[in-house]
Amino acid sequence: MPSTDPSTRPAASGGKLHSSINITGKSRRQRSFWSRILRAAGIARLAWLTCALSIVALSSVTFTGHEADKKRFSKELDTAVTLEAKGYAKFVSLNLASVDRELKAMRLQVLDGRRLPTQAAMNSRLGELSGLVLQVAVANADGQIVDSSLTAPNPPVSIADRPHFLAFKNNPTERLFISEPVLGRVSKKPSLQLVRPMFALDGAFAGVIVASIDPELLKSYFTDMKALEDQGRVSIVGLDGVIRFDLTKRGFTTGRDVHTSPNWDQLSTLTTGLFQEDSLGDKVYRRTGFHRVEGYPLVVMVGTGLQERMAQFVARWKLIWGLTLALALVLIVVAGTIARLAKEQKRSYLLLQKNRQQELESNRTKSSFLASVSHELRTPLNSILGFSELIRDTNEDPRTSQYAGLIHKSGTQLHALVNTILDLTKIESGKMGLVLENIDMVELLSTLTSIHKVSADQKHVELSLALDGVTQGVVVSDRTKLTQVLNNVIHNAIKFTPAGVIFVVMKPAGEAGLQISVVDSGIGISAEHIGQVFDRFNTIGAHIDSGAEKGTGLGLALCRELLNLMGGTIGLVSEPDQGTTVDIFIPYNIPKEGNAR
Ligand code: ATP
Ligand code: MG
Repeated sequence: MPSTDPSTRPAASGGKLHSSINITGKSRRQRSFWSRILRAAGIARLAWLTCALSIVALSSVTFTGHEADKKRFSKELDTAVTLEAKGYAKFVSLNLASVDRELKAMRLQVLDGRRLPTQAAMNSRLGELSGLVLQVAVANADGQIVDSSLTAPNPPVSIADRPHFLAFKNNPTERLFISEPVLGRVSKKPSLQLVRPMFALDGAFAGVIVASIDPELLKSYFTDMKALEDQGRVSIVGLDGVIRFDLTKRGFTTGRDVHTSPNWDQLSTLTTGLFQEDSLGDKVYRRTGFHRVEGYPLVVMVGTGLQERMAQFVARWKLIWGLTLALALVLIVVAGTIARLAKEQKRSYLLLQKNRQQELESNRTKSSFLASVSHELRTPLNSILGFSELIRDTNEDPRTSQYAGLIHKSGTQLHALVNTILDLTKIESGKMGLVLENIDMVELLSTLTSIHKVSADQKHVELSLALDGVTQGVVVSDRTKLTQVLNNVIHNAIKFTPAGVIFVVMKPAGEAGLQISVVDSGIGISAEHIGQVFDRFNTIGAHIDSGAEKGTGLGLALCRELLNLMGGTIGLVSEPDQGTTVDIFIPYNIPKEGNAR
């Protein structure tokens, strides 16, 4: 089976002519070329715009999320510290009320002339609060301790100089006084003093009864409640601005006056509230909730370290922002790559366009150069042909005659070449016209085969014509050009068939026209070269193998152009050493909107 190459099929076109035939195709290509350039330029911009918008959207989403989370976190924290302060205030209030109740009961006992209960008896009376009161002592109007739930001090102790005694000595009115922690002179332990005055029957000041509260017990209560985690702080401050109890993980302090602090107004006037500051001088920024102790001139403050509390929140958002940044970088890299590729694409399209222009320009120049050179060559060539023929036929010297014959032969070949080139350039420039007439193809093929039979016979190659079912053999076409086409194809078949047979077969090709196939059993064409047979000046070295005379390699190129002009087509199938078949389609009539120019 002969090999087939789609590029050699009738519809195919190749070489330079390809670009000059498909004018509509070319302009479509040019249009898509420009639209692609625009698209390329747009793609880069679009990529950067999309990238920028995505980054803005991404950052906004992250920022909004961050703010919402921060708000939620702050709200939760505020609620927590406010509730804790309220809870501790309640706790302090209940404890104080219990102790105060006992204190009042014991005062009645003492005024009744009875002694204070022992420490053990008092602890059992206090029940759950057992141990909270270190001792209860009674001082007379001079400040001398006269009774104690502990063993009575010996020598007797005076509290006449203590603020909690002086407070009543100077202002003997019924109230509960809560002192800041002082070192008990009887208990020898630091303690908060809960003091109530005593009055004689005549209403005269008769001394005070003092309950010493152990701050250590309070401390352990708050420590158990984990109030000190995350740099927590629990403080009890009197409405006089003096801190009674201040506990952090670093330890327990007391006595500081805070009534000059910026939050004092809030603290001293509101029942509950919160503030955030380096409130009590240890440089730890805390969110602090406070709550008034019901029934007593005290406020409980509960603070929690912001930095510590927010550690998890900060770590989480560091990670989220990191991811956002990484994503933004990825977007930038992607946009950059797209923009770079688009730019490169644009550059190569521009280059392509430039090359195309240059190619078109050089083709035009070449065609016009060839046309003028060929035209100029024809006039002197005709003289050479005429005179060499004259000398060959009339000169008596056989040698001169032989030389003149050679000159005439070469001149004839040159003449044919010049004509072919002129034909091609004419077709290219669209100046080739058609002379239409009715052509009897049976007659034309018979004439051509008998002419070529002479040279075929010389090579001992059999050339015959076969008409396969042809009833209508007349076509409307250009006789000279059809002859040119058929001559070249038959000539090729003879040229490339060293020995064997050649058939020229004509049969109907549907209703549209006739198919003429020139089938030879010659040297054939390799698959490697078959794609080039319609290229100009391509003889693909066949003459070397076949011993055929070297042609110009323009024959088939011209055939295709001429057939194209006449609404026909040409195709070729071949196999090395098996032979070649050239199929030519000739329409009965040249289509009005055919390829003719
Ligand atoms: P020109 O026709 O210009 O004198 P040419 O015959 O070499 O020269 P084309 O007719 O264009 O040029 O053919 C191109 C090439 O195709 C040939 O050189 C030859 O290699 C190959 N070719 C064409 N016809 C045949 C054939 N029947 N058998 C084998 N090879 C062929
Ligand atoms: Mg040829």
